[in-house]
Amino acid sequence: MDSVDVLIVGSGPAGSVAARFAAQAGCSVMILERRPKVGYPVRCGEFMPSDKEIMDMFPKLKDEQEIFDIPQELRCLDTVGIDLIDPEDRVTVLDFKGYTTDRDRFDQYLADLACEAGADLSLAHAFDRAKDNVAYTDKGEIGYKVLIGADGPGSRVAQSLGLQKNRNPYPAVTAQVKGDFGNHTRMFFGGIAPGAYGWIIPKDGRANVGVGFSPRFANGSLSSYFDKFMDRHGFTAETKVYGKYVPSEGPIPRTVSGNGMVVGDAAGQVISVNGGGIPLAMIAGRICGKTAAENIKNGASLENYETQWRDIMGKPLKTAAFNKKLADFFAFRSDSTTKMCMRILGQRRMGNLIRCKRIFP
Ligand SMILES: Cc1cc2nc3c(=O)[nH]c(=O)nc-3n(C[C@H](O)[C@H](O)[C@H](O)COP(=O)(O)OP(=O)(O)OC[C@H]3O[C@@H](n4cnc5c(N)ncnc54)[C@H](O)[C@@H]3O)c2cc1C
Repeated sequence: MDSVDVLIVGSGPAGSVAARFAAQAGCSVMILERRPKVGYPVRCGEFMPSDKEIMDMFPKLKDEQEIFDIPQELRCLDTVGIDLIDPEDRVTVLDFKGYTTDRDRFDQYLADLACEAGADLSLAHAFDRAKDNVAYTDKGEIGYKVLIGADGPGSRVAQSLGLQKNRNPYPAVTAQVKGDFGNHTRMFFGGIAPGAYGWIIPKDGRANVGVGFSPRFANGSLSSYFDKFMDRHGFTAETKVYGKYVPSEGPIPRTVSGNGMVVGDAAGQVISVNGGGIPLAMIAGRICGKTAAENIKNGASLENYETQWRDIMGKPLKTAAFNKKLADFFAFRSDSTTKMCMRILGQRRMGNLIRCKRIFP
């Protein structure tokens, strides 16, 4: 039976960043990825906030350059604002800098860094369950000292560790269209179905377009909502439409159990109000990988991971989850309540909303 110090399930941003830091610290690391190719197919809006915006949301974060120094060739387009559009097409413009990327190339870059640091990546290799320091996979058994679940919203690792899965994740789909879409991300609320929203995220001569919705308010199919959004804008998809679930209620109550940890979407480390999760997966991934290494080398507690990531991201994510609950309760029931709430909130409060800050004193 193969055996490693740290076994990581999932080669998304959370898994690859965790692998890089555990391997850099001298541990033997293996990443299992059930897909045959890292990052493909893309199931993401592909938007990354600027470092300044990330630091504004998470001011306790240190040494951010170590993880967010992304090469220029992975930045498709620098964007300068986010336009929030209500059901009557009234636009609120927010200054918010960021960039768009190609998520498949982005994830492959992070996985390459992990492999350069010494991690092994095993593709088309699915984790099933774990017990007594042995992981059972579709290619046999693997022994480990520490297990990291970076396996996305429906985490099997969380289940194996007896941790809570994300509750009420919402479905979202995305595709690419051709054209020039300026340098503002556009988010559309209402007009599709209650609780549904759409986005146009500009790239270089293309845009990432998509739709997500809360099954609590709308009971149609996601593909019918996506078609409606595409028709409304006269778009034809240049790629297949792919979807996934997005955690919507903030982090799960515990992210450490025994000698296992979960990270990224598996831990619900997603900004509830906008579905953004890439930077959070990378921030928590670094802490997770370093903690695994400290545990193996010096016997340090894995609880340090829980304490450290919550110190940086816990409060902002809790605020975002609370704001999402308010939005669900007051705004997303119908187009008229969405319109009314967006007008009451205005530009300043909506800026606070997307930046994980309180909207009322
Ligand atoms: C439609 C959509 C649009 C989004 N847009 C944005 C955006 O614009 N900006 C942003 O910041 N965030 C966005 N997000 C959220 C973002 O994609 C996630 O937060 C981010 O990918 C989390 O990274 P992760 O590494 O935790 O998980 P993932 O990227 O989901 O990676 C998990 C990996 O685990 C693998 N895996 C799962 N189960 C197993 C198993 N049993 N065995 C082996 N491997 C397994 C999967 O194949 C996958 O590769 C979006 C999400 C969706 C669905």
